[in-house]
Amino acid sequence: MAAAGSKKVNLFGLNRVQMRALFADMGEAAYRADQIMGWIYRRGVDDFEAMTNVSKDLRQRMQARFDIFHPELLAEQISTDGTRKWVLKLDGGNAIETVFIPEANRGTLCISSQVGCAMDCSFCSTAQQGFSRNLTAAEIVAQVWFAAKTLGGDFQNERVISNVVFMGMGEPLANYAQTLVAISILQDDFGFGLSKRRVTVSTSGLVPFMDRLRSDCDTALAVSLHAPNDELRNKLVPINRKYPIAELMDACRRYTSGKDRKMHIVYEYVMLDGVNDHPDHARQLAKLLAGMPAKVNLIPFNPFPEAQYKRSKADAIARFAEILKQKDILVTTRRTRGDDIDAACGQLVGRVQNKQKQRLRDLGVKVEIGSAASNGR
Ligand code: SAH
Repeated sequence: MAAAGSKKVNLFGLNRVQMRALFADMGEAAYRADQIMGWIYRRGVDDFEAMTNVSKDLRQRMQARFDIFHPELLAEQISTDGTRKWVLKLDGGNAIETVFIPEANRGTLCISSQVGCAMDCSFCSTAQQGFSRNLTAAEIVAQVWFAAKTLGGDFQNERVISNVVFMGMGEPLANYAQTLVAISILQDDFGFGLSKRRVTVSTSGLVPFMDRLRSDCDTALAVSLHAPNDELRNKLVPINRKYPIAELMDACRRYTSGKDRKMHIVYEYVMLDGVNDHPDHARQLAKLLAGMPAKVNLIPFNPFPEAQYKRSKADAIARFAEILKQKDILVTTRRTRGDDIDAACGQLVGRVQNKQKQRLRDLGVKVEIGSAASNGR
């Protein structure tokens, strides 16, 4: 691994198209680029010397032109329930968090796409920190690379990480170009080789980018809905003022239309005590999703310092789920994992430096933070 700031081209974070173009420039065949991709992503190698099936001559030429540079691992924490959290060190004192959630039949890695977040959702601790910058594709895939390495298995034989979800810090569709490159590496056979629907992009509802995602790649989608009507959603998820529920639902319909798109969208719904967990909200939600290929994932609110909300009572969550089930809507309740190491949904904070204060409220979208908690109580 060479030092940051060297003039060499960094291979880490390049996808197949980009990697092949570089090798073509050197007069090398496409399969060479594929081989190097395999070494980096599938075998976790970041040293040209270790690439034993590559000729000495090519290794030397690569060394002269290229780097394999990735962020460093700052810390690892392991929860009593087996959940793991890694902190990766970035430039300028920034850090990002990645969480692995092992379950009986799968292992889900939750990755970050930005340092901080500008979406300003009132129940999310990442939002309270503001936005610093987008991650590069290299920084996004480095999270998967480190997780795969520390978990011991590799992407060739033992698939410890079966699913990757963009549900860590940041709004992936607000970092569209880099997210797209990262997805292509995750899904590429010479990259991490995950099947298409085992990579899930989660969005607060950036409608135009949902359409672009639909045409640019084939990946599973989760939508952070959290409220069944505009009045409430405007308060919880401020981007709703720009792309209200009707437009969001139309985009969801487009995303799943076409016979190549037999998939459900997962609608995430954080359960906030006395705010969005009334049986009437459940009935409104059922109406909104009627006839759509939808799964609802109820997420018990995870508290953080200065949070203005409380987690819904268990019986309120059960009643909410029951109403949806009665209307034939698939519903699951997310089990809270890793909360002893602050690794649960909405608790990822990393370290956000050089804040640009670019939250929606600073960009001219008026947001009534604070009023949501008192509403409906
Ligand atoms: N920006 C993207 C992805 C990151 S958030 C999005 O909005 O979808 C991942 C999920 O965790 C989202 O559904 C988010 O709304 C939810 N979440 C955020 N804060 C939470 C909290 N304090 N408790 C429970 N879930 C939370």
